[in-house]
Amino acid sequence: MPELFIGGKWTAAVGGQVREIRCPADGTLVATVDEAGPQDAARAVAAARDAFDGGPWPATSAAERGRLLLRVADLLEREKDALARAESLDTGKRLVESEYDMDDIANCFRYFGNLVASGGKDRIVDTGNPDADSRVVHEPVGVCSLITPWNYPLLQTAWKVAPALGAGNTFVLKPSELTPHTAIILMRLLAEAGLPDGVANLVLGAGQSVGAPLTEDPRVDLVSFTGGLVTGRRIMAAAAPTVKKVALELGGKNPNIVFSDADFEAAVDYALLAVFLHSGQVCSAGARLLVQVELHDAFVDEIVRRARAIPLGGPFDDHARAGPLISAGHRDKVEAYVAAGLAEGAVLRCGGARPDDPALQKGYYYLPTVLDDCTPGMSVVRDESFGPVLTVERFRNEEEALALANDTMYGLAGAVWTQDVAKGRRVASRLRAGTVWINDFHPYVPQAEWGGMKQSGFGRELGPAGLAEYEEAKHVWRNLSPSPQRWFE
Ligand code: NAD
Repeated sequence: MPELFIGGKWTAAVGGQVREIRCPADGTLVATVDEAGPQDAARAVAAARDAFDGGPWPATSAAERGRLLLRVADLLEREKDALARAESLDTGKRLVESEYDMDDIANCFRYFGNLVASGGKDRIVDTGNPDADSRVVHEPVGVCSLITPWNYPLLQTAWKVAPALGAGNTFVLKPSELTPHTAIILMRLLAEAGLPDGVANLVLGAGQSVGAPLTEDPRVDLVSFTGGLVTGRRIMAAAAPTVKKVALELGGKNPNIVFSDADFEAAVDYALLAVFLHSGQVCSAGARLLVQVELHDAFVDEIVRRARAIPLGGPFDDHARAGPLISAGHRDKVEAYVAAGLAEGAVLRCGGARPDDPALQKGYYYLPTVLDDCTPGMSVVRDESFGPVLTVERFRNEEEALALANDTMYGLAGAVWTQDVAKGRRVASRLRAGTVWINDFHPYVPQAEWGGMKQSGFGRELGPAGLAEYEEAKHVWRNLSPSPQRWFE
């Protein structure tokens, strides 16, 4: 069966192109899928436009839209095993991590389903004028281009698809060209849940040939993008001539601040989780460890001891705790950042190489790496390497910690570790980031907004604001007893 989904039909690419999807853990062929081009993007936008302008979905009641999202959540649970397996084959991620993601994805649909069905957002405005009826109502934005990355393929998709549908929009989804499979399954489930034809459309392919047209097409009203900073800048520029609404979820270079009064065991454990989860391919990864000088030696020694012991392996290796990087090209990029850091004076404490294990040679593995004695000017500290690379910097006091933590163009997430409640709160309030954890790292819930400050982007996903991204507020004023005003007399 062809893999593009346009206007309620499965279709091949007009140009007849296909792409091989290979598992990053060992390079085996997962599948060959249709590779869309600009004409397919245009067809998909046309279908979404028709479904928005003439189809039933935007006028469907909020209660019914909410019910559909809840049905999708049930179907996602039913298909959890197949989805998790597909996600792991595309990404190389451990199966257990994909299974966690699938639970979160069903919860995301459930959250937005309930939020939408509960309604209650429209309001009557008290104008003080008894002859006027003034109301503010919320309507869908229109046709949305949803463009997503490879690190959490279906999760990032769910954060966009659920609120976009909940608000009554139609959309064209373009997942990363490296990880298309769970998006294909999602389209089947949306159709099974009863979504009208043309509301959800899927095109697969490269950023330049099929992503870019989705950001330029005048028939598109909104672009919601999750991905890298450079692509985000391009998309913002591409959307400008037609003044589309844009929401950008970009990268991060997130500080993890550890004060000497932190709970040592917990802080070490979470510092490892912060940076090495999914081999560092997490936008909110705690890749910059800032540690108070008194604690530095003992803390970093323990991190290094434990990082050296992290077993690497493929998605179905029960013994593995971290997997491969997404591609050979991405591993090259990570290696270049480590080399630059070492050239600039960082001290290699562990890793910094590919594993020797013969069983891992076909995959894109890289050892968990700790670089000590880092300074803010190093490129490995400033830029998102998006790999299993922890940089360590020291600070003397709270002011110095905050100055280092905020010395970044990004502002996605950050954490502070201390047993002093007041200090934790003070630091949290002064961190310029969209998410701050105190004595924790990585948790999120669909009820709470997610997004970045500074060049980590703008707009919010999840929470009530994540739904509002996909809505327009409209003021409707009704004059109950119109009479001539005679303004010009
Ligand atoms: P990427 O920017 O290379 O690609 C993301 C998507 O954009 C892909 O689907 C790609 O095909 C598409 N694309 C590329 N060029 C395009 C163009 N000119 N026009 C339209 N679409 C285009 O990012 P990636 O390497 O897939 O993902 C990793 C990045 O995503 C990291 O920087 C990471 O921090 C970020 N990310 C952010 C969040 C967040 O919530 N802020 C979450 C996950 C990932």
